Amino acid sequence: MLVTVRCRIKFKAIGFSTSAVASVSEVFLGEIPTLEDEEKLVKNTEANKQQCVNALPKCIVADYNSYRPLLQWCVNSRAIAEGKQLHAHTIVSGFVYLPFISNNLVNMYAKCGIIEDARKMFDKMFPRQPITWTTMVTGYAQNGPEEEALKLFARMQRAAMKLNNYTFPSVLKASAAIRALQEGMQIHSCILKTGYYLDIFTGSALVDMYAKCRVVDDAKKVFDEMPERNVVSWSGLITGCALNGQNEEALILFRQALVDGVKPNDYTFSTIYSVCANVTILDYGRQIHCLGVKSGYDVYSFVGSSLVGMYAKCGCIEDARQVFDKLPKRNLAAWNAMIIACGQHGKAEEALGLFSQFEISGMIPNDITFLCVLSVCSHAGLVDEGQRFFDSMTRDYCISPRPEHYSCIVDLLGRSGHLQEADEFIKQMPMEPIASVWGALLGACRMHGNMELGKLAAEKLSEMDPYNAGARVLLSNIYAAAGRWDDVAKVRKMMRDRGLKKETGLSWIGLKSKVHAFVSDDDTHPQIEEIYAKLKTLNDQMEAAGYVPDTRFVLHDVEEEQKEVLLGFHSEKIALAFGLMSTPIDTTIRIMKNLRVCGDCHNAIKFISKLVKREIIVRDTHRFHHFKDGVCSCRDYW
Ligand code: ZN
Ligand code: ZN
Repeated sequence: MLVTVRCRIKFKAIGFSTSAVASVSEVFLGEIPTLEDEEKLVKNTEANKQQCVNALPKCIVADYNSYRPLLQWCVNSRAIAEGKQLHAHTIVSGFVYLPFISNNLVNMYAKCGIIEDARKMFDKMFPRQPITWTTMVTGYAQNGPEEEALKLFARMQRAAMKLNNYTFPSVLKASAAIRALQEGMQIHSCILKTGYYLDIFTGSALVDMYAKCRVVDDAKKVFDEMPERNVVSWSGLITGCALNGQNEEALILFRQALVDGVKPNDYTFSTIYSVCANVTILDYGRQIHCLGVKSGYDVYSFVGSSLVGMYAKCGCIEDARQVFDKLPKRNLAAWNAMIIACGQHGKAEEALGLFSQFEISGMIPNDITFLCVLSVCSHAGLVDEGQRFFDSMTRDYCISPRPEHYSCIVDLLGRSGHLQEADEFIKQMPMEPIASVWGALLGACRMHGNMELGKLAAEKLSEMDPYNAGARVLLSNIYAAAGRWDDVAKVRKMMRDRGLKKETGLSWIGLKSKVHAFVSDDDTHPQIEEIYAKLKTLNDQMEAAGYVPDTRFVLHDVEEEQKEVLLGFHSEKIALAFGLMSTPIDTTIRIMKNLRVCGDCHNAIKFISKLVKREIIVRDTHRFHHFKDGVCSCRDYW
């Protein structure tokens, strides 16, 4: 029998601001699903969707239980249009006033991400059951604003409502997201009182909350006391270590988790790739990538973006591009990661090409995309392009520049030698310049030997952060390069008086999952004698090939010959000699440095790359340098 039902109800009737008119379209009366069919119904198939539509007319007159599987289907399929039709249906049938039905409707709106409508529904309900409160808290924790989740949780507590093992993980997730440690600790004490600390989901959420609030010791304490752990608890602790810079610890935990038989999930992979990127141990990163491919997580776009970042930061730009190209879906983070990677590896053209592709694909850039693009221009000295992007950001995408965007432009102008323009640009900033703006100007002054502006920038930086040793060091470097040793001594004395210490230059190289780190004039490595012998041979070969040490880069007031010796033992050269000794002759050498590589080492490595016929990649604080056949990819512009 053909039954035609049409109902048009204004959602306003129950308080919805939208005047959306829901219509249950003409449908055939089919098999009526019962609760036993729920399992079948919730599968996201087209047939089930048809069944859902077919079931609607009968619901009006018969079984209110039928709504549940239908709403559940809408949740699983994120079918919000059908969900709204069902909502309209419940109003016609009058079942909307049953707590059982309204709970499901709140759940449907919250899970489909329409949190405002969930809240409207929630506010109209009376009486509300504890489960509805929990649903609403979960909705806010998943969709934001997270503060609302905390407020509702406080109201639940005031009303002495029964809390359960669903409420705690949700509200903890909300406090983790906004780093609300105080609130998180209060929730912890509530968990202890109610006895839910033994619950695996609650315990894992606690670990995650402490980890994200960067109280990693407390996260460990909770983790150690858990009677059993799952992938969420392990991932939470690994993230905590990573966020606190305890990268080695994070890697050890990851290994332990695997030994314990835990199957890492997308979140674990994404975190551990970032850890590998931080410590730049490529071999280990590759092994984990294999595991990720086997587990099927490499196709997730947010895992992919971490993987792109890992390969790029480890110096393998080609691998990063391969991962990026193979991603079935690319999110904004993946595009941003790939653009910035190209920029840092001196592939400005490729980076800007990617940005055009990105725009053509219809994606909308965010403020971070523009930071990436501006930094690409700055690395390549593309002044006009950079200024064009800076203008386009506000004009075409309505993104107001943040102080970081201004830093990029100052860096771009300054590096390319337009120091006065950079200074003017700072004066015209609509907000107070942040430290990185002055840092960019100071760096440019060191590069171009501008003492006057350099002094101004260093003073501004010291005002903002009196304990910033980096600014003083840069200023003393400017004086040293100009041979003004009295001024150097003054700056050094001031640093001593204030107890400021220069950051030690450190270079490291990863070999077979082990990191070897070196400082200047290192004498701690077990193979140090062989390394110095290798350096000596290299130096002789370089000098024969025409290399002359550039002593401007020795920033001490010492005799010329002594300066040469000091230059010879900079940490990047020691790491390079060790790398050359310890790897097969056809492999690429990848060295990381925590400071900017000095001009003399840069020149020396160019010579060495030609002598040994190997590609040498050095990452410093600014960018990647790919040395090959006596030239560097940065074209000496860094
Ligand atoms: Zn050097
Ligand atoms: Zn270079």
